[in-house]
Amino acid sequence: MTETTFYYGLLIGFAVVALLTFPVLFFVTAPYGRHAREGWGPKISSTLGWILMEAPSPLAFAACYAIGDRKTDAASLIFLLLWEAHYVYRAFVFPFRRRGAQKDMPLSIVASGFLFNAINGYLNGRYLFSFAPAHLSSGAWPSDPRLYLGIALFAAGYAVNHHADRVLMNLRKPGETGYKIPHGGLYRFISCPNYFGEIIEWFGWALLTWSPAGLVFAVWTTANLLPRAISHHAWYKERFPDYPRERKALVPLIL
Ligand code: NDP
Repeated sequence: MTETTFYYGLLIGFAVVALLTFPVLFFVTAPYGRHAREGWGPKISSTLGWILMEAPSPLAFAACYAIGDRKTDAASLIFLLLWEAHYVYRAFVFPFRRRGAQKDMPLSIVASGFLFNAINGYLNGRYLFSFAPAHLSSGAWPSDPRLYLGIALFAAGYAVNHHADRVLMNLRKPGETGYKIPHGGLYRFISCPNYFGEIIEWFGWALLTWSPAGLVFAVWTTANLLPRAISHHAWYKERFPDYPRERKALVPLIL
């Protein structure tokens, strides 16, 4: 079997698993953070868990860049910069900035995150730096409007995600592990602007890379985070009688 056959088989399988996982996550909320519960096997430190889950993404993507044959293309450098800007932070900075990190998380969640990110880093990196057709390697892509619209969406999603995560971090004093109602920014309208920003970011990525792997990743992100946002929202309303009634779960004014 050639690597290309393996690649497209894996990509299709990955997309199918995303579509199958989506409805399941409306009934089974991943057991970490506020939805942590017993019965999911042994646990490890959540700081280490986040590093192990996320590190395969920046590493696999960088490895694909290193073995690819498009290192000096302007488009390749833009892809590398954006991906690593997101994932170096998520894998190596975010885990240490979280407050309440003394909670443990199930090893099964860490293992599934590790596998997901390894596959996703490979699928995106290998395509963009080796398998992508001429539209990305011809040198014309840096003047294509899809690239700039995608970058704008990615940047907007990145800003929303980071602002929202920062608001959450600041809710707890060092050593605290409880929950409070977040306010400010898009929290005025929705319970999970960090998830909303993340989804926008990866649809921006799909557009700016114009790649099937980017699209599958955006679909996966929605499949993961939309049901989780609905669970978070229901949890807030149940937990806090004074929770703002007009707030939606994920999409301002709509959902
Ligand atoms: P959450 O919003 O559940 O939690 C983020 C952090 O804030 C956690 O440390 C959490 O503590 C804390 N926190 C959340 N709400 C409150 C509150 N009301 N009061 C005090 N502290 C609070 O996000 P996740 O942990 O699920 O995700 C973290 C980041 O990773 C997000 O930016 C998300 O977009 C991204 N992500 C991306 C995925 C993808 O598929 N691309 C999948 C999953 C996450 P605690 O852990 O104790 O609950």
